[in-house]
Amino acid sequence: MTGSAALDRLLRTDPRDSGCGQAMELLDVYADLLAADRDAAQRYPEVAIHLAACGPCAQDLAGLLAAIGGDAQERWNDSEVAT
Ligand SMILES: [Zn+2]
Repeated sequence: MTGSAALDRLLRTDPRDSGCGQAMELLDVYADLLAADRDAAQRYPEVAIHLAACGPCAQDLAGLLAAIGGDAQERWNDSEVAT
């Protein structure tokens, strides 16, 4: 673990928040899970928490979902309202 990752961890509001770095790493997988109608938030709760707290990351996910198409983006919007 690097120093900046440790600092990042300290600065998080929610201790389960994955932070931008991990969220970005998992964003493709997360979007695919949403698109495949799997429970992405249950599989990667730390990413779900981060996406609820981080506008830029949530926007990136929305862009990925828009690119994937289908109703994945709608599902994401629903889950966003729920959190
Ligand atoms: Zn972020």
